[in-house]
Amino acid sequence: MDADQIRGLYLEFMAEQGHAVIPRAPLVPRDDPSTLFTGSGMQPLLPYLLGAEHPAGRRLADSQTCLRAQDIDEVGDNRHTTFFEMLGNWSLGDYFKHEQLHQVWTFLTDKVGLDPNRIYVSCFLGDEVHQIPQDTESAGIWTELFTAAKVSADQVELGTEERAAEIGSGGARISFYSKKNWWCRDGSAENMPIGEPGGPDSEMFYLFPDVQHDTAFGAHCHPNCDCGRYIEIGNSVFMEYRRTADGFEPLPRRNVDFGGGLARIAAAALDTPDVFRISLLRPIVAAVEELSGQTYEEHTRSMRVIADHLRGAAFLAVDGIRPGNKAQGYVMRRLIRRAVRFALDLGLTENFLPAIIPTITGIYAHHYPELTEHADEVVAVLVKEEKAFRRTLLKGIHQLEGLRGRVIGGADLFTLYDTYGFPIELSVEEAGAAGIEVSPTWREEFDEQMAAQRARSARPHAAVPG
Ligand code: ATP
Ligand code: MG
Repeated sequence: MDADQIRGLYLEFMAEQGHAVIPRAPLVPRDDPSTLFTGSGMQPLLPYLLGAEHPAGRRLADSQTCLRAQDIDEVGDNRHTTFFEMLGNWSLGDYFKHEQLHQVWTFLTDKVGLDPNRIYVSCFLGDEVHQIPQDTESAGIWTELFTAAKVSADQVELGTEERAAEIGSGGARISFYSKKNWWCRDGSAENMPIGEPGGPDSEMFYLFPDVQHDTAFGAHCHPNCDCGRYIEIGNSVFMEYRRTADGFEPLPRRNVDFGGGLARIAAAALDTPDVFRISLLRPIVAAVEELSGQTYEEHTRSMRVIADHLRGAAFLAVDGIRPGNKAQGYVMRRLIRRAVRFALDLGLTENFLPAIIPTITGIYAHHYPELTEHADEVVAVLVKEEKAFRRTLLKGIHQLEGLRGRVIGGADLFTLYDTYGFPIELSVEEAGAAGIEVSPTWREEFDEQMAAQRARSARPHAAVPG
């Protein structure tokens, strides 16, 4: 079953369970200046989770396109991409834990066909300080589901992720974590204002037993370990409490928010821990292989970065963003230029975006017709950016090479940015790879240069003497 089929099946199954299937929100939130991108399915629905009436009703489902610029350095591992689709379903004061977990279980095991033996879950351990009880209710529902599938359902109390790495989960089916399984808007129970809703969540993981645990991530493996053996495929958030002056009280109207990574579920269905092997990413990687004459096996990280970044940039173009020097436009520029830089190492010295973008828009044509509609425009926008960067790319690399032997600072980075079009993070990465030392205060120094340039260009010409 490929990712398109899984997405279709999910939405169909949720519709059967009485959910209204709603369209994706754009990658750039409409009325929310606090954040650059839509990073989860929950984000556009937050007003409704906080109490507003949704016109489509109390059961909703969608596949939300997300962009997490904060995950850019994660790209290259087996499961993170900056752009991804999150399958979501919501109960706004309707069903709660029992129905939600049964629904997810049926979808993952019956519909997608995942092996129940390889599904592991986490639940909230509780918080003594704030007197929030352990989520034994979710754990009880999971125990019933696992037991009915003839799968062991042993439990382990882990606590923080640090402690979990010390003691390991020992392969237990249900792991209890503290903070990791608590949801609220800014993350921790301490800082929640009075009246703010929060609640426990329950995460689902798929185990890839052939992946070796990497002790760089801790002495022992456990579901939230970052080694990639357990991959988080979904998360059900249960909004059931409200902060009071001295603790928490039950919310009168409880909500469910589920988010599942489509690519990761599709990878599990294919029995691979590598999301770049699924139907939505493999053809992009294959196109890079063909154009460069190199193999994914030998250039895994570079090809993952190129495939991810160009796909993200293509969706940003569809949603109306253009490469630029600020906000979303800067992130888009960074994605395209970083992809072009990585491609150079594969021997792609000429413009290659015209040959690759149609592969990307083609993959999504079926579910997101707006990609077909805007296909030519997307190519034009991305190719223009590639051309602009290629004009100075080699000179910039040469310039950076010339700085070898000394510590480079914000002023050098500013030149690389201003004259050669190198996004600052790319220069720092480039220097790191070339073994050139960068001043620890580069960011402040760069910002000073930037402010100085702004001041120069803002000065009214009439006031300049002479
Ligand atoms: P992780 O710990 O793996 O980074 P997360 O805790 O950030 O995941 P959530 O914010 O709970 O993830 O998002 C819900 C789901 O979206 C996750 O269970 C996962 O399947 C998927 N997901 C999250 N981040 C990414 C990403 N960068 N690429 C692909 N899928 C993702
Ligand atoms: Mg994450």
